[in-house]
Amino acid sequence: MTSMETRFRSALERIDARHERRTLRVSAPAGDARLVRDGATLIDFSSNDYLGLSAHPLLAERAAEWAKRLGAGAGASRLVTGTREAHLALERKIAAFKHSEAALLFPSGWHCNAAVLAALLKAAPDALLFSDRLNHASLHAGAAGHRQLRFRHNDLDHLEALLAAHNDHAGPRLIVTESVFSMDGDRVDLARLSAIARAHDAFLYLDEAHATGVLGPEGRGLSAALPGSVDLVMGTFSKALGCFGAYVAGSQLLIDYLVNTCGGFIFSTAPPPAMLGAIDAALDLVPGMTAERARLAGLGDLLRARLQTAGIDTGASATQIVPAIIGDAAAALALADAVAAKGMLAAAIRPPTVPSGTSRLRIALHATHKDDDVARLADAIVEQCA
Ligand SMILES: *Cc1c(COP(=O)(O)O)cnc(C)c1O
Repeated sequence: MTSMETRFRSALERIDARHERRTLRVSAPAGDARLVRDGATLIDFSSNDYLGLSAHPLLAERAAEWAKRLGAGAGASRLVTGTREAHLALERKIAAFKHSEAALLFPSGWHCNAAVLAALLKAAPDALLFSDRLNHASLHAGAAGHRQLRFRHNDLDHLEALLAAHNDHAGPRLIVTESVFSMDGDRVDLARLSAIARAHDAFLYLDEAHATGVLGPEGRGLSAALPGSVDLVMGTFSKALGCFGAYVAGSQLLIDYLVNTCGGFIFSTAPPPAMLGAIDAALDLVPGMTAERARLAGLGDLLRARLQTAGIDTGASATQIVPAIIGDAAAALALADAVAAKGMLAAAIRPPTVPSGTSRLRIALHATHKDDDVARLADAIVEQCA
């Protein structure tokens, strides 16, 4: 064994000792928000396919059609020979969808945040970076090596206090947060956040991963309801849009800056035609999915009402993501097991992903869930917690 392998082994042994070893398991989609695992059919309350678009025939057809017409790969990075007319047309379509001046495609949301935030900080190594304490791991990756001033989750009073405390700072200010948080399903107060950013001349970076397709006018995200409120919006096509890839939307100046300085854009091969085709189809469908969005909102209200009536804490959830906050980590695991034994899949989320004492079942609703699916889930949770 090499010395590096010795380290790998001892790291895995420490993970085993904490009972935290993870392994990959096969889940086969079975339609109607169901999947098959180890031979059992489970109702899926775990994936982020909120609108059921991952199984929509138009996405798969257009992905196949564009791959046939344009090839399997782009062959080079965007600045070399990788840019096709299809990339530019899709970026114009994304900008129109987000009501922004310009947009830029990225391979995934993780890649996008890690690369883009790092590129912004390159322009301003002296910038103060204010970030929500519960920001996604990819945003922390993008901020690596830069000091972060972290405000309490969605606590805009705390953000204002931090900004005021650093009022004499000469360099730029950057605020990074999300419109919907994946473990809580709560929303940021964007009107107030944007006013705070303006008042302090701070650049506002908003991650709309869980809002894109679901919230805002025609599913365009919360920022679309307040044009000009955000300087940089990012989002992913891998959740409600059912496929893969990510975008940044903002001013032409911002996009030109990224094209010229963002290492994760410059040194990565252009997204392949199949991916562009699937995104293009999803963007055609999403604005018209008003009934699906209303259904998601209704299912969220239904589930929260059922859980709250039974005395179960759903935090500040106001979206398609509903936590059943149990508190104790072992109890949250036991709840996930009890729910799975009844044919439903929802993940137990424990520290360090959430603060200690707030372990929970994270429930992701889909427009394709039946009322009865949600009623069964609520029954199972209430019964286990009684
Ligand atoms: C899922 C997620 C990402 C990463 O997006 P991928 O396309 O899955 O890589 C980024 N930010 C947030 C808030 C997310 O929930």
